[in-house]
Amino acid sequence: MSFTLHGIAVSSGIAIGHAHLVSHTSLEVAHYVLPKQFLDGEIARFDAALQSARREFASLRSNRPTYAAAEFDAFLELHQMILEDPQLSVAPRDMIANEHCNAEWALKVQMETLVAQFDEFEDAYLRERQLDVKQVAERLLKQLLGQPGHQPPPARHDVETILVARDLSPADLIQFKPQQYAAFITDLGGATSHTAIIARGLNTPCVVGLHHARELVRENDLLILDGEQGVLIVNPDKTILAEYRLRQSEWELERKKLKRLRDTRANTLDGSVIELHANIEKPEDIAEAKENGATGIGLFRSEFLFLNRDNLPDEEEQFEAYRAVAAGMEGQPVTIRTFDLGADKQIKGAERVASNPALGLRAIRLCLAEPQLFRTQLRALLRATHYGNVKILVPMLSSISELNQTLQFIATTKQTLDNEGIPYDRGVKIGGMIEVPAAALALNMFAKKLDFLSIGTNDLIQYTLAIDRTDEEVAHLYDPLHPAILHLLSHVIGTANRLGVPVSVCGEMAGELAYTRLLLGFGLRQLSMFPAKVPDIKQRVLTTSLPELAPLTQKILRADDPMKIRDLLDRLNT
Ligand code: PEP
Ligand code: MG
Repeated sequence: MSFTLHGIAVSSGIAIGHAHLVSHTSLEVAHYVLPKQFLDGEIARFDAALQSARREFASLRSNRPTYAAAEFDAFLELHQMILEDPQLSVAPRDMIANEHCNAEWALKVQMETLVAQFDEFEDAYLRERQLDVKQVAERLLKQLLGQPGHQPPPARHDVETILVARDLSPADLIQFKPQQYAAFITDLGGATSHTAIIARGLNTPCVVGLHHARELVRENDLLILDGEQGVLIVNPDKTILAEYRLRQSEWELERKKLKRLRDTRANTLDGSVIELHANIEKPEDIAEAKENGATGIGLFRSEFLFLNRDNLPDEEEQFEAYRAVAAGMEGQPVTIRTFDLGADKQIKGAERVASNPALGLRAIRLCLAEPQLFRTQLRALLRATHYGNVKILVPMLSSISELNQTLQFIATTKQTLDNEGIPYDRGVKIGGMIEVPAAALALNMFAKKLDFLSIGTNDLIQYTLAIDRTDEEVAHLYDPLHPAILHLLSHVIGTANRLGVPVSVCGEMAGELAYTRLLLGFGLRQLSMFPAKVPDIKQRVLTTSLPELAPLTQKILRADDPMKIRDLLDRLNT
């Protein structure tokens, strides 16, 4: 049966392929009834998974990262205790034997029973431990899914495969890079979640927030995904399929044409130079940045070096990664952000449970709370400055004391390098991300102490409009054209220009054609985006005359009716 679902378009392109269902980050499992002769084998499979989870905990405890100290140990101890709770370690075995069900299902049912018991506690601390129960059950489930058993068939490699999941974390998605999926589909997630950002970086069509795709789509169904419109067509008829194949080849042709702009400078019609830089997550992404004609790296999200691994990258490993980008960009600017971990990007084995992760210990707050880890990164970063044009960017500043402490950390790290005779760029530029309304409003205070600014519109919008960027339930409220956002952007860009502090935008707005002229009209001259967007934005810059932007940009700033703002923006873009 053919049907269509609508979600949030986050990465454009058209994909046609067969569905492959995965359950990576949530406890969604199928229920099977097993013939009697398979029950012993199923119990053995459960036991093997339990043993592996025990070994995993033991290894995590013995290889505990030095920065994590006592808190990490206590956290692991609690998880080990939960793993040994008979409800998780014994009851699933009985259930398999008595109810003839598969191990995953037995685990899920027992986990839910245990969670329900925690729910009954009066004490809020104990109630919150149900999250730990889920995490432990998830760990065990992952072990189980790694054991040969009753799993969905693996992805086929002879046909295009579209990955369908309830949710995917940024760490999950970056792992899929080498596997060449034709597209990604998730039921959860918002347009500027890090999952969406990675999908764009992978140049892979992606639609999130589909709500029920994981339930309605079956393994191997034929799917068409329109990443521009946010439409998923399941089991299309021949006419629709032919139409989308045509659209797909037109889209690919258009991309090829745009790539010819690679070596053209991004100058406006009146001759102003606009810098178009690329956002990257891994050193190998610079190939794509160059291929698309980016003239620098505006944002290297260094935290991706820390994900999907049981240990942490040491100074040497980080240094090699930063040096590779610095040297690879051959003198062009490379802005490396200190790790923005926390919220939706967590170190494996040291996941923190916070009631409001986006407002919690994230980005620079986490850096400052983990001095050992931060110092290691700063040493690696400073050492890399010797091999190219490296700048250091500090994420999520909200108070001046954070900036002061950060500058102090940098100064002492420089001092130790001096003592050791290790070379680095003494004039290395330090910039701050403006992504919290407090920093945008009190800009002077930060700008005075910084060499450059970079506006993170993804978080600036999240924090100004109070909408969780990962939550599809509020994704419709995510509005870059909200008057409050426009005023903040114009204020930050205008103030930075007046103070003579270079400013760029590195949030997703920078890669959206609809906003290019508006941002240029506010006075922006540097944008950083996912690599594949550079040619589109360049084409828009090439057809823009800066002096003509002012009247409409001012009108947009004065307008407060959303319809009027959109009308004016359309006029600006025609
Ligand atoms: C932003 O917030 O706009 C930004 C560029 O940082 P990130 O998306 O990694 O939070
Ligand atoms: Mg951010």
